[in-house]
Amino acid sequence: MAGLPLARRMPFERPRGTNDYGPEEMARRRAVETLLRETAHRFGFREISTPTIEHLDLFTAKSGPGIVEELYNFKDKGGRDVALRPEFTASVVRFYVSELRNLPKPVKVYSVGNVFRYEEPQKGRYREFAQFNAEIIGAPALQGDAEVIALAIECLRSVGVKDVAVRIGHIGMLRAFLKLPPEEQGKVLHWLDKRNLPALHDELKRLGLEALEAPLREYVELKGGPDVLDKGASILEGVGREGFDYLRALAARLQAYGIGNVTFDLGVVRGLDYYTGMVFEVDSPNLGAEKQVMGGGAYTLAELLGGEPVSQTGFAFGLDRIVLAAEAEGVKLPTPRLDCYVVPIGKAFQARGLEVLIALRGAGVSADIDLLGRGPSRNLDYANTLKARFAVLVGESETKKGVVAVKNLDSGMQEEMRIEELIVHASVRTH
Ligand code: AMP
Repeated sequence: MAGLPLARRMPFERPRGTNDYGPEEMARRRAVETLLRETAHRFGFREISTPTIEHLDLFTAKSGPGIVEELYNFKDKGGRDVALRPEFTASVVRFYVSELRNLPKPVKVYSVGNVFRYEEPQKGRYREFAQFNAEIIGAPALQGDAEVIALAIECLRSVGVKDVAVRIGHIGMLRAFLKLPPEEQGKVLHWLDKRNLPALHDELKRLGLEALEAPLREYVELKGGPDVLDKGASILEGVGREGFDYLRALAARLQAYGIGNVTFDLGVVRGLDYYTGMVFEVDSPNLGAEKQVMGGGAYTLAELLGGEPVSQTGFAFGLDRIVLAAEAEGVKLPTPRLDCYVVPIGKAFQARGLEVLIALRGAGVSADIDLLGRGPSRNLDYANTLKARFAVLVGESETKKGVVAVKNLDSGMQEEMRIEELIVHASVRTH
């Protein structure tokens, strides 16, 4: 301590836009993650994992201006340019092109992990945050798109979030309307995505496309039932109807999945450069400003990363936003509780208390014991703050009878039982 400059004697603060999660919050996050994993498995998706750091150019080449501005990148000790991943798709497709393409098609995979973006932090918007990401590679577009959207909705339902709104658009139509080479489209789409109209104006002017500004601004406001598809087609003159007919077919296929409440939203643009087809976003209206809980779409990336052309669709959720959405709807997440807290009554019963503890743990019952030698009432307070289900009192009279006193901390009821009985009793978990 003596050698540290004065400023360092202040407590350390975590970097802006990052989070610490305490035990209660972490339990809720894990509960959500577990439900998401189970849902993905139920839909036939398998887990993969890719590195947190990648070569910088994996992202700078293909992800689009929005992502590049927000990258956490640096030179490693060998002088290589690397970046913390800002999203999963580029890594998944890199992995697909180098190895996963040898798997039978379609390849259905998911990943969970932290991603990093240098954004302006606010509630629900962080610089390091966990995402759940799922992708289908190598399925026909309609089938793959519908399956991915169905998984996205089911993920929310499985967590208990019911108030969800799905908005579907088609970025391919916008790209066709712009009639620009893909590398020139990025900024226009980015500013449209952010609804930054002055920047959109400047970019269109730079490209000599001022005439497109009015139709584009009108187009991205179109939202509603099938009639918006007709309006969209009439605004994007000369682009044809293919994408709009596709969205109609997709909505019909989603109906067969039991997903009927789809809104067509031609203003879903998505910031990433590689989206080329259907794009979608799901909102939890209870969340206020950062109400978008997930987004995704169909993209073309494998060939840009050196692979064969193949159709791909994916989506990503922010785990924090899903937890916030669940909390906003009052969902009670199934978080694990400590089954038993063992309280030896006095020093003489420490050894017997440890015997009980070890028997419980050995039988798969979660159990903890007083380590501080506190008195019974302070111990019961502690057990209550831990939200333990049972306090197991080990004292003289119980030990003589070969039993323990088991206090149900929810009901306050107390009864004596043998350890074998306690094991059976505590193994029945109703939450
Ligand atoms: P994106 O990869 O930008 O499509 O984002 C996918 C999802 O990740 C969003 O719908 C949000 O749920 C979540 N998300 C995006 N940015 C952030 C952030 N800065 N902090 C927390 N969650 C985020």
